[in-house]
Amino acid sequence: MKRKEFAVIGLGRFGGSICKALSEEGVEVLAIDIDEDRVNAYANIASHAVVGDTTDEAVLKSLGIRNFDHVIVAIGDSIQASILTTLILKELGVPHITVKATNDYHERVLNKIGADQIVHPERDMGKRIAHNIISNNVLDYLELSDEHSIVEIVASRRLDGHSIIDLDIRAKYGINIVAIKRGKDIIVSPQATEIIRHGDILIVIGADTDINRFEKKLV
Ligand code: ADP
Repeated sequence: MKRKEFAVIGLGRFGGSICKALSEEGVEVLAIDIDEDRVNAYANIASHAVVGDTTDEAVLKSLGIRNFDHVIVAIGDSIQASILTTLILKELGVPHITVKATNDYHERVLNKIGADQIVHPERDMGKRIAHNIISNNVLDYLELSDEHSIVEIVASRRLDGHSIIDLDIRAKYGINIVAIKRGKDIIVSPQATEIIRHGDILIVIGADTDINRFEKKLV
């Protein structure tokens, strides 16, 4: 099978860390930025690093961008450049385009022009940290939809020694424990008879309102 080819446009903090992570995974990545210093900084990290203004169609064509399977547009400082770059990538027929959005207006335009995946790293991280600050027991959370999440909750002393069935979590709260982290161990899809211990990290999935109820009552 042919290996996937990736390109990252914009080597700021976000694009740069994607580029590093892809390279560390052993994936070939083309790094592009308009700024020569940024490109030089990635010369030894990415498979190829080139200087170019990606709002210029001729530049993207000369790099053979249409042959890449997945292009990540991480231009944060200029919404106009981000939109124009995405539009050209789309017109050139790049199969998968991920774009970092800076605000809601930016996201709406990106949606209209057909970006395949739109990410808001600052907004999403801000939300995750806020959850973590508000609730002492919530370690991390992943938003599945506007109303559903997967949350990591620390089991309190009140849960210690009780089995999942004993607590009747699914019936009473409508949520499911998908895994339990206990020290270095992880119990995936725990049995209903599994005994919860104080300090376990429960990974639960469900509606936000139900997870909140569970958290308030039991944790
Ligand atoms: P972050 O918020 O992730 O740190 P930045 O906004 O600092 O992102 O970085 C965006 C990067 O995109 C910068 O390195 C900038 O030089 C690059 N960039 C901006 N416009 C273009 C363009 N037209 N073509 C290529 N790269 C661009």
